[in-house]
Formats: sequence, structure tokens, C-alpha cells
Amino acid sequence: MGPPGAGKGTQAGAIAEHYGIVTISTGQLFRDNIQLGTALGKQIESLIADGNLVPDEVTNQMVFQRLASPDVRKRGGFLLDGYPRTLEQVAALDAELVNQRRRLNAVVALMAEPTTLVDRLLQRAEIEGRADDNADSIRHRIDVYHAETAPLLDVYRDRDLLVEVDAIGEVPEVRRRITAALDAKLGRQS
Ligand code: AMP
Repeated sequence: MGPPGAGKGTQAGAIAEHYGIVTISTGQLFRDNIQLGTALGKQIESLIADGNLVPDEVTNQMVFQRLASPDVRKRGGFLLDGYPRTLEQVAALDAELVNQRRRLNAVVALMAEPTTLVDRLLQRAEIEGRADDNADSIRHRIDVYHAETAPLLDVYRDRDLLVEVDAIGEVPEVRRRITAALDAKLGRQS
């Protein structure tokens, strides 16, 4: 978890590789659908460009399909990047994990003051050209993060799953912080 521009996508791949698990990135899956021009892509394109969340039902269904797919099932575990983002998604994920006899071991929160991340996002806009990395969408995504997603921190803190990591720093340094914090957390569980 983390506000827009905290480095979720950048870190997710390396962290999943470190633990030999699969990454399920909702934002990336949505962007792939848009690029491929699928029915889902057409349905969500303008929502994403404007910085709105995709409806919970659509998002949940996509994640659960991916979680149940054979390549994910046969790997030891999974990393959810950018999901859940609403309290409804938390409840739906809880139920699905029970269904699939799986569980969360930890929730990594990349901590940064959202407004300090605007410059990062505007730089990314020049490199990656993401439709939602413009000033209006960025501002809206930060508001959505505060309203919808930030409350999840307390939920996972109360369940003793939250691992908070300072997201400000060079990419390899933040990665080291995440793996060190996760190793400590997961080591305590085993
Ligand atoms: P991200 O790549 O994680 O920044 O996600 C990019 C965009 O995809 C978000 O601004 C949302 O529009 C959409 N999105 C990604 N994950 C979710 C989610 N869990 N729930 C709803 N919308 C999402």
C-alpha cells in the first residue's frame, strides 16, 4: 500500500522476486487491458485517466481470477500491488482468501507525505506517459487515497499485519528497508 508515487509498482517486482512469489498489480492489469483494447479496458479507461478508482466489484473479480489461476496457485505465494484500496475490497479479499484457503502474512505500507510525491509523479509522466500522471489527476488520486485507502492502514495495523516503511530514498535503499522489515516480520511468524 502507499499513496500515488510512493513507489509501489517499482518495489513490487523486486520484492516478489526476492521472495520467489507472483506479483498481482491491479493498476498494471488495468493498463494492460486498456492497451489491448479489451471490453474491460474500454469500460475503465476514462475512470483511470481521471484518477478515479475502478468499481470494487470489477477490481475484486479481476484479482480473484488471477489469484485462482494455476500459475499463481502453484507458486508459494503472491504479492498484491495496489490492492486492496477500499474497505469494501478488504472485506471481499478476506472472504476470498478464506475460500481459497490462503492468508495474508504482511501488509507493506510505503509511507510518504502524498504532496511531496507530486514531483515524482510529474517526472514519471515524462518518462512513462501514463494518462493519469497529469496535475489534475494526481491531485484527485491523492484525495482518493486519503478518503478511501488511508483508513486501511488502521485495519491492518489492528490485525498486526502492517509493516511501515519510509518510502523516501533511493530505490535500492527503500527495497532494502522493505525486505529487512518483512524478514523481521515473517521471521517472527514462523
Ligand atoms: P496504480 O498503478 O496502482 O497507481 O493504479 C492506477 C489506477 O488504477 C488507479 O488510480 C485506479 O484508477 C486503478 N486501480 C488500481 N488498483 C485499484 C484498486 N485496488 N481499486 C480500484 N482502482 C484501482
